Amino acid sequence: MVPEELATHLGAQGCAASPHDVRRLLAHVIFHGAADLDLRHPLPRRLRRAVDATTVRHRLEVLERATDPADGFVKYLLRSPDGALSEAVRIPLHVQGRYSVCLSSQVGCAMRCAFCLTGRLGLTRNLAAWEMVSALLAVRDEAPGRVTGAVFMGQGEPLANYDEVVRAARVLAHPCGGRIAGRAVSISTVGLVEPIRRYARERQPFRLITSLTSAIAERRRRLLPVAGRQPLGELVAALREYAGVSPGRLTVAWVVLAGVNTDDAEVDALAELFRGVRLRLNVLDLNGGDEVGFARASQQELGAFIDKLQRLRSPVVRRYSGGASCQGACGLLRNVPAAYRPAGAEGTAAPLVPTPSGAAGAEPAGAPAGGSPGAGAGAPGSGGLAC
Ligand code: SF4
Repeated sequence: MVPEELATHLGAQGCAASPHDVRRLLAHVIFHGAADLDLRHPLPRRLRRAVDATTVRHRLEVLERATDPADGFVKYLLRSPDGALSEAVRIPLHVQGRYSVCLSSQVGCAMRCAFCLTGRLGLTRNLAAWEMVSALLAVRDEAPGRVTGAVFMGQGEPLANYDEVVRAARVLAHPCGGRIAGRAVSISTVGLVEPIRRYARERQPFRLITSLTSAIAERRRRLLPVAGRQPLGELVAALREYAGVSPGRLTVAWVVLAGVNTDDAEVDALAELFRGVRLRLNVLDLNGGDEVGFARASQQELGAFIDKLQRLRSPVVRRYSGGASCQGACGLLRNVPAAYRPAGAEGTAAPLVPTPSGAAGAEPAGAPAGGSPGAGAGAPGSGGLAC
């Protein structure tokens, strides 16, 4: 909760609380991450009793931390009280001692982007705002520096869980919560039209990143099955609405697939679709190798594609997608416990799935939990490629 919500909640319980008390209580529990209600200057007794009796302050359990020694990305495997598993990734930033956290918004994902292994999990459920905030706190508490950014690009399509994601983002950006600057919170989407319109109407202050990956409708439908229900023309119209009310450039992400979406036709179509819009292009490498059925573009192909994009006269940002060896890179989040992967089993690890009793158990290698083969895509930084 942000302070106004907690004050309203307590008021409904017949316990009026001063704005000052509500703020210091939330700063104690969220910003300082305390599990108790023992503030240095104690709360009024009736307030403490009301908070104790009418709120819960769960934390997610950290099942595993796995570090990629090549780049310092750390993937966290987290368990909710109902046994649901999700993941978050600590991302070192360019400034020494600063980190961003890639957060999941759902348990699994229903979008089934063709180049993302997360999509093969299928969707189990939405994460609640508190679970996303708790994931950030779990990562932040162990970071050897400051967490100054958060990206909703892990498991799931954030805009399919709009209310809870925006609520979590508000808490993370609040001075009593995560104290992360609003523009340092990014929400990624595979391109859900109505939620993007709502996002524009509500003038949300967080950065929105849309995975386009192809500007050719037929090709995009094959790569991102959701595009069959969310036509490209409508998506571009919604993004134009958003660009019209957003102060920065419209950020579009592009997962580069060798021989698939790097030709002149793509660049021409992209230029046509966004004529007159101030764009920023995030170019991402593919992860997942043979398992996803696509290949990563060679340096030569990638360089030629980036050269062609210069025609758009927009900034082109090559986004580094780290954490591959700990299964924390874009498109690889699927609850795989990195420490238990058999040596040499690149791409064949088994996801952990909750057992019926709610405890986590490993399925046999090569048996993905739910979802259909041939699905999947991921995002900049870490997590899903499109979201
Ligand atoms: S890229 Fe994102 S939206 Fe697409 S399947 Fe992966 S997690 Fe889901």
